[in-house]
Amino acid sequence: MSSRTIVTIDREAVRRNVASVFARSNKQIFAVVKNNAYNLGMIEMVATLMEAGVRHFAVAEVYEAIEIKTNFPDSYVLAMNPASHFKEVRLHGVALGIPSLDWLTRHQADLSGIELHLKVNVGMNRFGVSSLQEALSVLETVREQDLALTGLYTHFPLADEPGADHDGQVERFLEITDVLRTKQSFPYIHAENSATIVKHDPRLAFCNYVRPGIFLFGYSPIEKMDWLIPSLRMTTEVVEIRQVEAGEHVGYGTSYTAPETIRVAVLPVGYGDGVVRGRSSLPVIINGKRYPIISKLFMSHTFIAIDSTVQIGDKVVLYGDGIEIDDITRTGTANNSEQMCARSWRLTHRYL
Ligand SMILES: *Cc1c(COP(=O)(O)O)cnc(C)c1O
Repeated sequence: MSSRTIVTIDREAVRRNVASVFARSNKQIFAVVKNNAYNLGMIEMVATLMEAGVRHFAVAEVYEAIEIKTNFPDSYVLAMNPASHFKEVRLHGVALGIPSLDWLTRHQADLSGIELHLKVNVGMNRFGVSSLQEALSVLETVREQDLALTGLYTHFPLADEPGADHDGQVERFLEITDVLRTKQSFPYIHAENSATIVKHDPRLAFCNYVRPGIFLFGYSPIEKMDWLIPSLRMTTEVVEIRQVEAGEHVGYGTSYTAPETIRVAVLPVGYGDGVVRGRSSLPVIINGKRYPIISKLFMSHTFIAIDSTVQIGDKVVLYGDGIEIDDITRTGTANNSEQMCARSWRLTHRYL
């Protein structure tokens, strides 16, 4: 039996977003499908992305990479977190990121036959070599051990932060890569996440791949992009309607007090289903009309203020029809990946 709250994921939207990203960047795509493809279902999304022509995928962990390689032997998959389990990595043909010289030194004896992409740290301070000297020592180790270093990449943490020194971070990447590229060739060079792609930075023209995640699924971490098509829709139903008198509250606590006698609808969905509390910053839609969420969201229930036209059983749009994940994001109450990742798979999901 299906839940009354239904999630619909639009695969055609994803395919069209791929085409748009490709047209705008004019580069091949390393699709980031970490965290179950931003919680849209990794296997379904990889299949959809492959239909749209994508062959290269990036994930955080080796187990995710192996799942992709097992289901899609034609794919190329890079696991970016510091890895172990090198026997399985080699067996499944997964490529690995080099997070530091130290990691490479510790594991050099286990890495033969595994493709490696060297990561450069430009300021996130998560993974990657941080100096030219460290990068050159990596190249030396690779040469001594006869390892397969085929990729070079970085990640820009300030691309979606207005006023931050993103430019300086691009310069740091260039300082290191300009030298490395004189030492050997790299078939895969990738740096641009979604927010960086739309900067069209000519200094990054030498990167032959872009590495977007959120754009592919139709959402923007920066300003509104009218060419993106949201892939996720969520609807529920009114399960109860009641009159609430002036001065009364709804749900737990006193976060809402009725200013006058109002009509209230109860929805069977809440933060337990992964609808984040920030969702209450914008209305829901019933029969094309907007109604405000009142009080906080609760674990399994949400309250809305309605007019006399709303009836029990009416369909309620939580995401879709012009109120999208990005619109909540722009209220500053919950970012878009957070809203996607919070959503529970206990809800009934349908792929279009
Ligand atoms: C998540 C991630 C991306 C994709 O970022 P988006 O903002 O979703 O495009 C790219 N590279 C790395 C290393 C990431 O962790």
